[in-house]
Amino acid sequence: MDCKLAVIKGDGIGPEVVTEAMKVLDKIGEIFGHTFDYEQILMGGCSIDATGVPLTDEAVAVAKSKDAVLLGSIGGNTSTSPWYQLPPNLRPEAGLLKIRKELGLFANLRPANLYEELKGACPLKEEIADRGFDMMIMRELTGGLYFGERSTEEINGVLTAHDNLIYNENEIRRIAIKGFDIAMKRRKKVTSVDKANVLDSSRLWRKVVEEVAKDYPEVTYEHMLVDNCAMQLVKDPAQFDVVLTENMFGDILSDEASMITGSIGMLASASLNETKFGMYEPSGGSAPDIAGQNKANPIATILSAAMMLRYTFDLDKEADAVEAAVKQVLKDGYRTCDIVSEGTTLVSCSEMGDLIAERIQ
Ligand code: NAD
Repeated sequence: MDCKLAVIKGDGIGPEVVTEAMKVLDKIGEIFGHTFDYEQILMGGCSIDATGVPLTDEAVAVAKSKDAVLLGSIGGNTSTSPWYQLPPNLRPEAGLLKIRKELGLFANLRPANLYEELKGACPLKEEIADRGFDMMIMRELTGGLYFGERSTEEINGVLTAHDNLIYNENEIRRIAIKGFDIAMKRRKKVTSVDKANVLDSSRLWRKVVEEVAKDYPEVTYEHMLVDNCAMQLVKDPAQFDVVLTENMFGDILSDEASMITGSIGMLASASLNETKFGMYEPSGGSAPDIAGQNKANPIATILSAAMMLRYTFDLDKEADAVEAAVKQVLKDGYRTCDIVSEGTTLVSCSEMGDLIAERIQ
C-alpha cells in the first residue's frame, strides 16, 4: 500500500518523538511491503516563528490532500515563551483548534491499557491492577456543552452564566457508528455513557445508540450513567472495551482513564472524521522541560502510528506488529526516563525507537 502522510513534528519534544515513529513506520514498510510518503508541514510555535501564524491555509491544504496526519505536539513553556505574549488566536494552540475544525475531526479515541511490565506505575490497588485493563475511550469532539452558545449577564443585579448543551441525532449517530465500528476491531463490547436520568441530550443519545446497535448484532452494548462510570473506572477497569460518550463526559473520563495507566509517555490518541482520515498524536504535550535532550518517551507517538495503521489504512496485522514490538521492548527491560525503575535499563528517545524498530516482525 502507498500511504501518504502529512507530518507535523511541532515544538518541544515533537520532532524527537515523531522521528522515532517514522523510523518504526519505515521498518513496517520494509517488512510488509508498504511505502510511507511524508510531507512535513508546520504548526504551532515553529509555524509562528516561520510565518507569523500558528497554521497557514497552505499547510491545511497539504493535510487535506493526504490520507492521515501524524502529529508530535505543539506549544512551549506557557510562562516564559514569547508565543504566549501573542493574542489567543495567534498562539500555538490556535493551530491545533484550526486543524481539527478544518479536517472535521469529530471522534477522539484515547486507548488506556496497562502493560504487565508497568503495573508498578498504576495507582490502583494491586488486586485491581493485576487483572489489567485495555479500553478505548471514544469521545465526541465537536458538539455538546463546549460548542453551545454561552453567556454571562446580570439579571436583576445577580451575575448569571449559562452554557448550552446541544446535540442533534446526526451528530450522535456518526460517533455511535464509529464506536461500534471500532468495537468490531476489538473485543466487541460498547459501554455508552450518559446522564439519561437527568438530561434530555442524554436520552436522545441513548435512543440513537440503541438504533445504531441494531446494525451490529455481534457487539454487546450497555448503557452506564457517567457518575457510575467514573467509579467503575477505578473499581473494575477490566470490564471496559469501548467507552462511547459525549464531549464533556469524554474529556473527564479520558483523563481519568489515562491517570490509571500511570504513564503519560505511553498514551496514544487519534481523532477521526467521517471517512478513514485521521490525525494521530500522543496524548501528552511538548514537554519543554526535557525538549532537545533525546530523553522523551517516543512510545505514545509510535503507538499513535500503530492506530493510524489500524484505523486509517486497515492494516491490522502491521498495527499488531508495532504493538507487539513495544510490549517486547518493555519485557526486555528497556525504559525511557519517565518509566524507568529499579532493575531496568535506561535508554534515550532514539535508542527506544531503534529497539522497537528492531523488534518488528
Ligand atoms: P506536557 O504533557 O508537555 O508535560 C507534562 C509532564 O509530562 C512534563 O514533566 C513532561 O516532561 C512529561 N512528559 C510529557 N510527555 C512526555 C514524554 N513523551 N516522555 C517523557 N515525559 C513526558 O504538559 P504541559 O507541561 O502542561 O504542557 C507543555 C506544553 O505542551 C504547553 O505549551 C501545552 O499547551 C502543550 N500541550 C500540547 C498538546 C498537543 O500538542 N496536543 C497537548 C497538551 C499540552
